[in-house]
Amino acid sequence: MEGRTIVVGGGVMGTAIAWAAARRSDPIEAPVVLFEKGQLAAGSSGRSGAILRQFYSDRALVDMARDSLRVYASLQAATGRHIGYQRMGVLTIGGPAAPDTIGLVRRNAELLRTSGIDARVLDASAMRALVPGLVVDDAAIGCHEPDGAGVDPVRTVEAFASLAREAGAITRIGERVLGIEISGGRVRGVRTDTATVECERLVVATGPWSGPLLASIGVQIPLQVVRPEQHFVELPSGSIPRGSDRDDLLADSVLDRFGIAAKRMPSPAHPVILDIEKGFYTRCESHALRTRVGRMDHSQDAPVHDPDTIEESVSTAFQRWARTVLESRLPAYREERDAGSLVGLYTLTPDAQAAIGPWPAIPNLYVVTGFSGHGFKLAPSVAEGIAQMLDDEPVTAFDPTFFAPERFRAPTQPHGRPFGL
Ligand SMILES: Cc1cc2nc3c(=O)[nH]c(=O)nc-3n(C[C@H](O)[C@H](O)[C@H](O)COP(=O)(O)OP(=O)(O)OC[C@H]3O[C@@H](n4cnc5c(N)ncnc54)[C@H](O)[C@@H]3O)c2cc1C
Repeated sequence: MEGRTIVVGGGVMGTAIAWAAARRSDPIEAPVVLFEKGQLAAGSSGRSGAILRQFYSDRALVDMARDSLRVYASLQAATGRHIGYQRMGVLTIGGPAAPDTIGLVRRNAELLRTSGIDARVLDASAMRALVPGLVVDDAAIGCHEPDGAGVDPVRTVEAFASLAREAGAITRIGERVLGIEISGGRVRGVRTDTATVECERLVVATGPWSGPLLASIGVQIPLQVVRPEQHFVELPSGSIPRGSDRDDLLADSVLDRFGIAAKRMPSPAHPVILDIEKGFYTRCESHALRTRVGRMDHSQDAPVHDPDTIEESVSTAFQRWARTVLESRLPAYREERDAGSLVGLYTLTPDAQAAIGPWPAIPNLYVVTGFSGHGFKLAPSVAEGIAQMLDDEPVTAFDPTFFAPERFRAPTQPHGRPFGL
């Protein structure tokens, strides 16, 4: 078997890239083949918060988040695929307990506005009006992105894979790439657990599994895998009323699991809250009938050496911390019961930004990894940019220099801001 383009990894990056590449390829003359060793969304993507915010400190990221959000927002209308998209807004809160965050909120709100994004600076009383019951200091400020949103990550990856197949891509799910064949400084193909497959170009989008696979062909990128803990609380039962997006369909998988006859996702009780003063984020996940709480900074976490054998249990210390920070902002959650916990995987780089693009010594190898816990929202732009690279077009979907995989060879690295901010 042969594929002109091979994509390794069936997460949000691999499936979005397979779709973008297949749309531009003849499926007979230049097939795109995607390999996934487990099931679609088995890695970071399936456990993602899938929050689509645009609040960043770098224009390169702001513009990608803006452009990708447009793709997610229009995906259902454009393709008929339901991805659990909900526009609930994102409120980023800075406050006096971390004084730097106040300036950051102001600066980033201005940056967003100059990229054409609706981003409003709110004082404490405006935040309280937006989110009834919200507890903030009188000196706190917020950046509200009314268009901020979230999706169901598993359905999104499945939708990208289906769209890739419709466009002619071949998806080989349950087939692991064991090695990459190199000769004459170029990738010639891959060895999987059942076959050897030749290709003209290879995209490695293997998330937390990328380090060893790339190192096996001499590609050294300083990636560190950590296991962020997440805690869930039941969705507030009407105590924080809001009323947008009542028309969103509830994911079938959730309907099946709970035997629910309703056809609508419950409205998110409040916007996504990105609390940079207290260092946590929270999102109502209507598709899963729960509210997620996560910590923002994982730069000091212990590394995970084997992503296939991670400790899945979540510490009670984290669960208590999550409830404490959530309830300190939104006391209405005191009434709600716990709704489980999970552990995910982040693939961190030293500057908390991804490595995306060709590897100079092996020019037909494209690296797409190291999203440092904030990649889901960027996937459509990453995919479009990689498709442009594969076709030797000027890359307009992202700034290739900002993400150049070889930038880590430089002796000094800027310290990454938590959560890629
Ligand atoms: C808990 C959590 C919360 C997050 N919240 C957000 C958020 O709110 N917003 C946001 O923008 N981002 C968020 N992120 C980050 C985002 O989810 C990731 O950046 C993104 O999912 C990375 O996608 P990926 O495709 O690169 O990797 P993955 O999803 O890990 O996909 C890699 C795939 O490659 C497969 N694979 C690996 N090795 C091989 C091989 N040898 N052969 C074949 N297949 C292989 C794996 O099985 C896996 O399915 C979060 C992440 C986590 C863990």
